[in-house]
Amino acid sequence: MSPARTFRFAPSPNGHLHLGHAYSALLNFDLARQSGGRCLLRIEDIDGTRCRPEFEAAIFDDLAWLGIAWETPVRRQSEHLDAYRAACDRLAHMGLLYPSFESRTEIAQLVAAAEANGPWPRDPDGAPLYPGTAKSLTADEVAHLKEAGAPMALRLDMAAAIAQAGPLVWQKRGAGPDGETAEVAARPAAWGDVILARKEVPTSYHLSVVVDDALQGVTDVVRGQDLFWSTSVHRLLQQLLGLPAPVYRHHALLRDQSGAKLSKSIGSRSLREWRAEGATASDIRRMVGLPQQP
Ligand code: GLU
Repeated sequence: MSPARTFRFAPSPNGHLHLGHAYSALLNFDLARQSGGRCLLRIEDIDGTRCRPEFEAAIFDDLAWLGIAWETPVRRQSEHLDAYRAACDRLAHMGLLYPSFESRTEIAQLVAAAEANGPWPRDPDGAPLYPGTAKSLTADEVAHLKEAGAPMALRLDMAAAIAQAGPLVWQKRGAGPDGETAEVAARPAAWGDVILARKEVPTSYHLSVVVDDALQGVTDVVRGQDLFWSTSVHRLLQQLLGLPAPVYRHHALLRDQSGAKLSKSIGSRSLREWRAEGATASDIRRMVGLPQQP
C-alpha cells in the first residue's frame, strides 16, 4: 500500500473567496478523501498590507458552508516567519542571495533604458526581469544604502542557483487516466533573479510555500494553472534547501462569460454573494463542475 497522501488548500486572506477558490478547495478535499489521505488548510498571509483577519474569518465560514472540514490548528504563515528566515539564511550562506535596493519605479526606469536597445525579457507573468544592477554593488555601497533606509529586497542569484542545483524536473500528476505522472523540465531561469525576502517581510510567496509544503509533509500540490510556471522556482528551491518535492497538478482556471479568469480585481461574484442570493453548497459544486458528494 502506498503511504497516505497529503494535499493542501492555501488561500491568501486578501479578499473574499469566489467560485475559482471553491473549485480549488473542493477539488483538493475531494482528492484527499478519494485517496484516503488528508487535506490541510493553510493561510498564506505574509502580505500584511493586503491580508486582513476579517477575510480569514470569512474563508473559514465559506469553506465550512461548502461542507469542508479541516484539521486545526491551521498554519498561518505570518506566525512562522522564523522558519522562512532560517531557509533564507541557508541560501545566503550558500552564496546565492544578494540585496537590491531599487524601488519599483527605478526598476521600471532601468528596464525602459535597456529596452531602448531592443526587447527586454519578461517573466511568465509578463513582468520585466530584474536587470541585475545591484549585483555589482560594493560592500561599502550596500552598507550605505542599508543605512540610508533604501527599500531592500534579497534576490536569488538565478544563474548561480541553477549552476549549483543542476538540471531539474518536477512530477506532473494526471498524465494518464489513473493519475500517472510525467516529468516536466523545470525552467526557473524564466523568472530571473526573483525576490525571496524583503526588509519588511523576511520571506516571499515562493520561499514560504516551499518551506511549508515540506514542513507539513505535503505530497500533492493541486492548484490553479496560473501557478504552473512558479513550480520551476519551487523545484529549484526544494533542491537547494534539501527538501522533498511534492507531485503537482495544475487545474484549469474558471472564467467568466467574457473569458477573463475569475478574480477579485474584476469584481467576480464572491461565494458570500452567491450564498446571499440563495445558492446552496450543491449549487456551487454543480457550477464548478464537480460531482455531488457521495
Ligand atoms: N496562496 C496562493 C493563492 O492564494 C496559492 C499558493 C499555492 O497554492 O501554491 O493564490
